[in-house]
Amino acid sequence: MNQELIGGAKRIVIKVGSSSITGANESKLDGIVDLAVRLMDSGKDVLIVSSGAIATAAPMIGLTVKSEDLATSQALASIGQARLMARYERSLARHNRIPAQILLTVDNLEEDVTRTNAQRALERLIEIGVVPVINENDSVATQEIRFGDNDQLAARVSGLFGADLLLLLSDVDSLYTAPPSEAGAERIPVVSFGADLSEVQVSGTSTGYGTGGALTKLAAARQAAENGVGVILTATENVSVLDTEECNHTWFEPAR
Ligand code: GLU
Repeated sequence: MNQELIGGAKRIVIKVGSSSITGANESKLDGIVDLAVRLMDSGKDVLIVSSGAIATAAPMIGLTVKSEDLATSQALASIGQARLMARYERSLARHNRIPAQILLTVDNLEEDVTRTNAQRALERLIEIGVVPVINENDSVATQEIRFGDNDQLAARVSGLFGADLLLLLSDVDSLYTAPPSEAGAERIPVVSFGADLSEVQVSGTSTGYGTGGALTKLAAARQAAENGVGVILTATENVSVLDTEECNHTWFEPAR
């Protein structure tokens, strides 16, 4: 089913979290880039929403624990964003492609002028054939005025981009009725639009330097679905087969 869903989409947003592409998982970024390029080569418009700036910067300045201090997080984001983009640049160069960075704040998407500018720039980048890589502009965002997590950013960007599919990559391969480590947790393959998920128990905790968890993924998937964007939630480790083979995922049906 995932192949059909991907095959039928014209505009795709790939959302990747910090823990999937930093630290021990640094080499996994290539797999995500390979997927993006395969989709582009098959005629689809693709953009990547990527976290990982703060997690990339922390070890560069000798930090091992997540900082609670806003100024430090803002500084880390600005250090790590450059390194993160350099990694996308190297990875895309293997395919003779280049990335383009767009950093957004909530305000940018809420104000008409900046939203339209971002949209126009995106359209031109797609025409040129480069890969837009979007992150939150953490260095200028404050705790109060943030998307909160890049899952939320991805849902909003999917709407801005007019995407018909959001690939939400995660540590787990699907939504489960309870945390997958718990006995009796069952995989939920499809979430119909408007389905009642009040019985589903999801954890709000994130891993490592990212801010998202199953809860933010679920909220983002539902928001995207409300905006008419279908969502495939699956594990980052599935990227090499996602578009060619069947693999575990949850499909969130979009509003019609
Ligand atoms: N934008 C942050 C970063 O790139 C991460 C936010 C998130 O993981 O949701 O480091």
